[in-house]
Amino acid sequence: MVARSEAEQLVRTVPTEPYYAGGWDSSRGADTFDVIDPVTERRLATVVAAGAADVDGAVSFARSALDDGAWGRTDGTARGYMLNRLADLIEERTEVFATLESLDIGKPGFESRAIDLPQTVHAFRYFAGWADKVEGRSIPTSAYMGRPTHSYTVREPVGVVAAITPWNSPTMIGAWKIAPALAAGCAVVLKPPEDAPLTSLLLASLIEEAGFPAGAFSVLPGRGAVTGQLLIDHPGVDKISFTGSPETGYKVALAAAKGFRRTTLELGGKSPQIVYADADLDEAARGVGIGIFANQGEVCAAGSRILVARAVYDEFVELLVDQARNVKLGDPFDEGTTMGALINERHVDRVSRYIASGLDDGARLLVGGHRPERKGYFIEPTLFAEASNSMTIARQEIFGPVGTIIAFDSDEEAVALANDSDYALAATLWTCDVSRAHVVARRMKAGAVAINGWSPLDPRLPWGGFKLSGQGRELGWSGIEANTEEKAVTAVLSYPLPR
Ligand code: NDP
Repeated sequence: MVARSEAEQLVRTVPTEPYYAGGWDSSRGADTFDVIDPVTERRLATVVAAGAADVDGAVSFARSALDDGAWGRTDGTARGYMLNRLADLIEERTEVFATLESLDIGKPGFESRAIDLPQTVHAFRYFAGWADKVEGRSIPTSAYMGRPTHSYTVREPVGVVAAITPWNSPTMIGAWKIAPALAAGCAVVLKPPEDAPLTSLLLASLIEEAGFPAGAFSVLPGRGAVTGQLLIDHPGVDKISFTGSPETGYKVALAAAKGFRRTTLELGGKSPQIVYADADLDEAARGVGIGIFANQGEVCAAGSRILVARAVYDEFVELLVDQARNVKLGDPFDEGTTMGALINERHVDRVSRYIASGLDDGARLLVGGHRPERKGYFIEPTLFAEASNSMTIARQEIFGPVGTIIAFDSDEEAVALANDSDYALAATLWTCDVSRAHVVARRMKAGAVAINGWSPLDPRLPWGGFKLSGQGRELGWSGIEANTEEKAVTAVLSYPLPR
């Protein structure tokens, strides 16, 4: 891992302007914004915000690249080569991407290196494989006025896709949107998060070298309420692929309703982790700890509701508290740090308010709960016990390192508590009973269920949720479906088809 001073030097190599129509544009953006390091609270970079002219320029150019340009004429085989080449270029720069991600977000370097970057490369390689396999079906159909018919379907790119990403894992979540859309032949216009735009800008700097023609991929940094809103309102956008809060997701859905444009909405979660009495408790405590403390708890699938069988409640709580005490909060660039800073001051305030509400509602604070007296947006790993599922800390997404432990007495009660949520993104089950695991997995209201391991990531698996957690699926074949329109073609034939 590089030292902090070297990491800060790296930022200077990253472009800080909108990228579209195959080039960088600093001329039109009158507005700029600062990117702040969550650990030092110092300015890392000043980035040019894309304004109305940039948004229009990017979307219009993407449209013509698809309709009349080189990108629209690029076949699946070539798209696959380009995606593989892009994966190679990212992989060669893993250290640079991982370092920038740590600086930008405040997360420990080992997480970027072990999770975000390998997952990003994997997603580009996986979808490179799909690019020349976007196939249709042949469907036997009835005769038309006594004449035989021949019917088949084709999958065509949805068109221009606006991809909007959150700050918690912008590189990996960006890849989850960009890779399937490019594999399907769509043009992508990415609006990265204002708090963490650096790796998206670095990605744009590789796109030409990977062989993509101008207009296939653009990056428009800027504020959500301005650049983001202009993008989702632009009539040239055919689909919006959004990851973020339910509040912004609602705005996206409203904007998309004009013209009934397609959406994929990956929103928040309040995911249960159920620990049964027969679980391997040491293993479960380690996994539950990762589930709530990884990435400072700033994870949509964070297992923030920890449901524990009463028979093992005291023993498990003790083990989990040990996990929290073992977390080493600190500068991501210091040796041994296992948890970094939250993204910004506003978010520290928000998480602190949730901690205060837990205390007000009568939950017992087991560990953490404070902002350490040091520079940076830090919050201690925090656990509440003796909570109920009706408390605010059990109902609302905190998006920080705060776990709420609730006891249950029966399997039925565990399932009822797990499903009693406005969200339905993920669930984790810890049990040695294989039959119970699969039966309960089927009963979980969640887009993804993990058994004896917290939320394994893999671009082959569909990802997404329902209820307040959103709509649609990214990744896997679902990622291709979400970026294509299925067209049925029927030909009325002059001669019978051979049997
Ligand atoms: P926000 O909803 O605030 O922002 C998400 C993105 O939308 C950012 O790029 C933001 O830009 C942009 N945005 C904000 N307002 C608008 C607007 N009016 N029009 C268009 N775009 C807009 O979420 P956060 O960035 O705060 O991310 C945290 C949230 O994301 C959490 O609730 C979390 O659960 C969810 N999330 C869900 C995941 C999933 O897969 N389901 C994964 C990761 C996070 P800007 O940054 O400039 O404000």
